[in-house]
Amino acid sequence: MSEDEFIPRSFPCNECHSGILQPRHITYFTWLGNELITVPHFPAWVCDVCGKREYDEKAINWLNMLLDPNAGKPNAKSRRPLPHPKPRTGTSRTAHDS
Ligand SMILES: [Zn+2]
Repeated sequence: MSEDEFIPRSFPCNECHSGILQPRHITYFTWLGNELITVPHFPAWVCDVCGKREYDEKAINWLNMLLDPNAGKPNAKSRRPLPHPKPRTGTSRTAHDS
């Protein structure tokens, strides 16, 4: 069985130097303003000896992108203020003709 896909490897722990960081899925907690965000099944490496956690950089970046409301939107709102929505009903023009 050759598993050539994206599978995180194990790393030696640089905290305790005796454990191995094992790929795990943990629940990641982060604060967004006053809100505590929990991300279940977040990819991380956890040391099997000291319990140190290392997070995947790409996953962190991805998460930050998700949590940042301005990410990925190139100023779509600031340039063109939409006109006020006007009700456009072609049927109700009884008392209103100008
Ligand atoms: Zn360790």
